[in-house]
Amino acid sequence: MDYQVLADLLFPHVTDTPESLEERFPLREVPEGAVITRMAPSPTGFVHLGNLVQGLTSERMAHQSGGVLFLRVEDTDAKREVPGAVEVLIDTLKHYGIQFDEGATHDGDAGLYGPYRQRQRAGIYHVYAKKLVSEGQAYPCFCTEEQLAAMRETQEANKENTGYYGKYAMWRDRSLEEIRSELNAGNPWVLRFRSTGSIENQFKFDDLVKGKLTITENDVDHVLLKSDGIPTYHFAHAVDDHLMRTTHVVRGDEWLPTLPFHIQLFKALGFKLPKYVHIGPLMKMDGTSKRKLSKRKDPELALTYYKAEGFPVEAVYEYILTILNSNFEDWRRANPDAPADTFKFSPKKLNPAGSLFDYAKLTDVSKNVISRMDAAKVYELLTEWAKEFDPDFGSKLAADPELATAVLAIGRGGKKPRKDLAVWKDAKPYMGFFYDEYLEAPVFDEKFDKSVVLDALTRFLEKFDINDDANTWFNKVKEITEEMGFTSDMKAYKADPSAFPGTVADISTFIRQATTGKTNSPDLFTVMQILGYDRTVARIRAVMETLK
Ligand code: GLU
Repeated sequence: MDYQVLADLLFPHVTDTPESLEERFPLREVPEGAVITRMAPSPTGFVHLGNLVQGLTSERMAHQSGGVLFLRVEDTDAKREVPGAVEVLIDTLKHYGIQFDEGATHDGDAGLYGPYRQRQRAGIYHVYAKKLVSEGQAYPCFCTEEQLAAMRETQEANKENTGYYGKYAMWRDRSLEEIRSELNAGNPWVLRFRSTGSIENQFKFDDLVKGKLTITENDVDHVLLKSDGIPTYHFAHAVDDHLMRTTHVVRGDEWLPTLPFHIQLFKALGFKLPKYVHIGPLMKMDGTSKRKLSKRKDPELALTYYKAEGFPVEAVYEYILTILNSNFEDWRRANPDAPADTFKFSPKKLNPAGSLFDYAKLTDVSKNVISRMDAAKVYELLTEWAKEFDPDFGSKLAADPELATAVLAIGRGGKKPRKDLAVWKDAKPYMGFFYDEYLEAPVFDEKFDKSVVLDALTRFLEKFDINDDANTWFNKVKEITEEMGFTSDMKAYKADPSAFPGTVADISTFIRQATTGKTNSPDLFTVMQILGYDRTVARIRAVMETLK
């Protein structure tokens, strides 16, 4: 058959050529070794941890090497598209420190390699479709759904591989006349690739995450263009990543099964194959076994979850680095104050089987991240969070920045900073007692008679001087301890607990509870300094009234 005639018949309006497209999208002028990569999401509106893993991997690879990260919107499935999804994705990733250099933006496209939305690229795909047809590498298929279903049934009954291949490829070798008559009848068609591969043949392939793979050739005549002329993922991947000059394809490993076809397709089109970085899924422990994080079962898959819980973005970012590159933690220990993006990220360190998501570890990382922030930064981020997720607390924080910052400064700085906060949600239970409205009534240990607690508080107020330094303050608490027959000698107490009604820890707890309503609080001396003399005394007095 004269394939050129067929190509003209199928694509009469295509006048552009692959050569002109090569000229329109020249090789990029980037330094040697620069990684050009992309995110290519389908705009379905759900932004999840997997996007962040992929985004961070691509972003690091691009920007560490002086390359480019661009955003391509894979909107070929109009039915699944959610309005505003692209904007949500851009904003969410930006929030996590991942910025695109080019591609789809809030207002159209930015960059010289667009359009960056696949539905707007139909004309470009058709140029290559026509070329493949003219070379006998692609052909139209007029099979109906019913025919394909029947084919599948036969294959299943015969225990054969399913798919459109070999003798099942019904339209592979039809005549021009047959094709013409279908077209004249107005019957819908898809464009299929004419595979010359055989499942008897294997070859070696190197994936940056998976390592050396043995790949079996593809023998299926996969669809390149659907009946509406819109490309399948496979065809668009080859055409777009070639013309956009992608050097590295970072994507989920659900694409591994079709990788043999992609390799074949790049070759058929005469394109240089990019490098592949196939990322395993995020896993979690479910009892004693591992399973993939699921959208349905695991709220923590959605990125909105981390925002609502109040994980600082830096914490989520560092946590992802921790699970992707096992040496990140050591690096962080050695470089506690360095910006996370000065860490040398390597895709080769990703676990080929997928990374294990561990909430406890995330919490740990987050505590460390927050403990390294200064009080002003903690105040700023906490207030921003609270305004959205706990407006009452948010307005209290905003009303008195000085108070909140002083509280948040307790135990901050120095070699061993306190790690009370893992998420912003922890802040209210931690510091809410500074605000009278959140102050809870103390519940004293029933082991002690009310009169004992009252006695301790009375003695404390008699001695309390807001101008005392921490040592003097604590010595006074010890004096009260001794005066009441309690002991400051913990060893002696341990040796014979029955010899004392209690210890200095109990006396401190009475005072702490009367001041804060809680048995646990930041350093009590500092708490009183921040509350000031009047508020401290008023609180203790009010509690004393309840003990009388
Ligand atoms: N649209 C594809 C997806 O969302 C993109 C895969 C790729 O990065 O090539 O899975």
